[in-house]
Formats: sequence, C-alpha cells, structure tokens
Amino acid sequence: MSVNLENFHSIQRLVSAHNATLVAVSKIKPVSDIKALYNQGQLDFGENYVQELDDKVRQLPGDIRWHFIGHLQSNKVKYIAPYVHLVHGVDSIKLLQTIDKEGRKINRKIKCLLQVHVAQEETKFGFSKDEVLQALAQWQNTKTAFAEICGIMGMASFTEDEIQLRHEFRLLKSIFDEVRNHYFKDVDHFDTLSMGMSGDYKIALEEGSTMIRVGSLLFGSRN
Ligand SMILES: *Cc1c(COP(=O)(O)O)cnc(C)c1O
Repeated sequence: MSVNLENFHSIQRLVSAHNATLVAVSKIKPVSDIKALYNQGQLDFGENYVQELDDKVRQLPGDIRWHFIGHLQSNKVKYIAPYVHLVHGVDSIKLLQTIDKEGRKINRKIKCLLQVHVAQEETKFGFSKDEVLQALAQWQNTKTAFAEICGIMGMASFTEDEIQLRHEFRLLKSIFDEVRNHYFKDVDHFDTLSMGMSGDYKIALEEGSTMIRVGSLLFGSRN
C-alpha cells in the first residue's frame, strides 16, 4: 500500500484542531489507494480530470464526497453535475452559468468556489481580486439558483519562502472576507476558503483556511 497513514493521521489532527476539512487529492492514484483512506474514515477526495473522476466514481462507495479541483471546461460540466460535491476552480461567470444550467436540468444544487489568482506564477486560470468583485457585481443581477457560490479557492506560489506564502494566504483570506461582507453577508453556505497543499497547508491553516487539498503527502509524489 502506498498510502502514508502516519501523515494522514497527523494532518487530520491539525485539520480538526482548526475546524477545517481535508480533501485528499487522489489524481493519477489508483482506486485501491482511495479505498485505503476511505477505510480510515476519509470521505472527501479531490480529482483534476473529468474522465478519471468518472471512472473512479463508478468503482467507489457512494458516500464519498468528490471535489473537482482541476480546470473545468464548460462542455464537461454535464458529466460531473450528477455527483460532484464541490467545484473548486470556477474562474468565469460563463462556467458558473453552465454549472447552473446543468444543475437546473437535473434539479440538483451544485456547490462552487470562485478561484482567485494571487501567486506569482503566470496562469490563465483564476480571477484577480478586481475581476472577482466585478464578476460578482455582474452575477448579482442574474443570480444562479443551482450553482451555489460557497467561497473562494486559491493557490500560493510554488516557493518555500514562508513570508511570501503567508502574504499570499492573507491576501486570499482578505478577499474571502471582502466578498462575504459585500455579497454574502447573511448567506450561511458561503463558508469555505480552500487553500493549502502538501507544501504549505500548515501556514494556510494558520492564515484562516477552512479546507486544505493535500495529495503527495498522503499518496506519494506523482510523476
Ligand atoms: C494536485 C493539486 C493539489 C495537491 O497537491 P500536493 O502538492 O500533491 O498536495 C492541490 N490543489 C490542486 C488544485 C491541485 O491540482
């Protein structure tokens, strides 16, 4: 078995102490690894690829909560709409509207996080802070009953510089607070700040993360 149970239990302890949630990122890893953690009581798993997720869902227990953490293309939303627990990487109003449409078709609310880009690396994905506020101003006119905005997701830079990491997580937390105060003040389901991975989850929890996404510390490195 290639699952690191010692890491799992120590991460789980820290996550509980912060009242947060651990999403075990199982992309590219076999179903047997997921089962091994599931047997330890882990129910939240994260996947990045629609086809792979679809295959795994068929083979694994129905009470697993599947998080889609990769970049989601609008034309693939329909495949995961029936079972996905939370879509972490919503980075356009168009994608939000597609999720809403697919949820409406099957009468199922789909929880979403808006992805905000704060890291130094260039990427096509994620809103800037200004863009997310603008997008929500636009969204307010239409609202989406079936795509339910539950919070913010972000990634810090790929660095070991703790000061830089802390700075970026603080920025994400401040954007989360601002969005909540502006648009979701009395909305109970707007409660999730998804940030922190294998290399930086401790700092992320200290800076207010409510959900960490950890892969390699649990399942070993991916090639
Ligand atoms: C792969 C991935 C993770 C997990 O990364 P690790 O460094 O292996 O913990 C977390 N979040 C996203 C968005 C990912 O793509």
